[in-house]
Amino acid sequence: MRTDNAAYVARDLAHVWHPCTQMKDHEHVPLIPIRRGEGAWLEDFEGKRYLDAISSWWVNLFGHANPRINAAVRAQLERLEQVILAGFTHEPVIRLSEALTAVAPAGLTRCFYADNGSSAVEVAVKMSFHYWRNVGRGEKRRFITLSNSYHGETLGALAVGNVELYKDIYRPLLMDVITVPSPDCYERDNGESWAEHTRRKFAHMEAALERHAHESAAVILEPLVQCAGGMRMYDPVYLTLLRAACDRHQVHLIADEIAVGFGRTGTMFACEQAGIRPDLMCLSKGLTAGYLPLSAVLTTEPVYAAFYDEYVKLNAFLHSHSFTGNPLACSAALACLEIFRSDEVLERNRALSARLGERARTLQDHPHVAEVRQRGMIVAAELVRDKAARQPYPWQERRGLAIYRHALARGVLLRPVGNVVYFMPPYVVTPQEIDLMVEVAREGIELATCA
Ligand code: PMP
Repeated sequence: MRTDNAAYVARDLAHVWHPCTQMKDHEHVPLIPIRRGEGAWLEDFEGKRYLDAISSWWVNLFGHANPRINAAVRAQLERLEQVILAGFTHEPVIRLSEALTAVAPAGLTRCFYADNGSSAVEVAVKMSFHYWRNVGRGEKRRFITLSNSYHGETLGALAVGNVELYKDIYRPLLMDVITVPSPDCYERDNGESWAEHTRRKFAHMEAALERHAHESAAVILEPLVQCAGGMRMYDPVYLTLLRAACDRHQVHLIADEIAVGFGRTGTMFACEQAGIRPDLMCLSKGLTAGYLPLSAVLTTEPVYAAFYDEYVKLNAFLHSHSFTGNPLACSAALACLEIFRSDEVLERNRALSARLGERARTLQDHPHVAEVRQRGMIVAAELVRDKAARQPYPWQERRGLAIYRHALARGVLLRPVGNVVYFMPPYVVTPQEIDLMVEVAREGIELATCA
């Protein structure tokens, strides 16, 4: 049997329906079959290598085929691959819950598990709604969300998100939410600081809470960076103000740290930069260093206590997934947290993010780059047709796709979100690899904007 790229692509396209893909695109956009990975690199079946500048959809933290995580998962595999988590438990999930509650903002003492990010959002939404019902406030059933937010693709997660491209078609299936303008600092006025803009935008949230708190269960948001919305960023002051307002109005604060958690923004969790504790915090992606599907919703004693009752009162949270708290995934997550601790990852990342920011900011001078923005290990460049007017390129032109294709040819995996080219590399990336990814992005931008 043939083992070249083309052979795998042909077999794939005969049966595999790929996520987030117009399959017809593969008539002209190459599909890349990957044989192996090592560190920040992926390798296809003909030995061509690709630098994974987007951490394989923002999941990978410590490189592909990381020897320490491999060893942890292998050791767990010899003991127990999976067990029902209702009525039973296992050591990895116990240890992981101890470890997560130790690193999370103080007061998040309870861990509920699922197996992907969207499911964690579903859990948080249902748990918040159900909490209010259990405490006799069943009228609090609506959710407040930000424009341009993204929380996943299942129906509940899609409903509380706000990226039209993914949401619009399914609107008849979705619950109604209250959408508040995002504090997105790309939209700040000339001369306005991030903090000033963010504070000004908070007025919309305050007004929404004034009006809807009585009927609202929670505010849900992505702390500091709206990733799928184009790596749009805002100042931590928003979270500080929001925490106080949620307390004042008796509304839960759900922090979706699925993309920004585990060091992406420079701190372990983005919420730390505002010194706040959400009522519910959703984690996935980097939770297992990007190894295996796992997600968790961390919450507080008061939330937990509202469900703790005699069975016949029917107050329990009867949500479940078959693979909830899978032992292999938990063992990868434990190895991941151990690397954070032993290798002082957050400290080491400071030098990497400084390098990444410094290099990427050189893209700022390009006539079609409106802004280069950064929060920790996430750096993004916003492409525009007209820089002075900040007029975007029409989405139909798919400028990002031209950059994607150029980068692949040059051996770098960049995957722009619309007109936004971004870097979110694994933490094992070297300074030289950072230089390479920025250089290739520069060439791609040049190519994609020249006509
Ligand atoms: N929330 C955020 C902030 C995300 O970025 C994502 C995934 N990109 C999700 C939720 C959904 O996670 P999953 O793709 O694992 O369902």
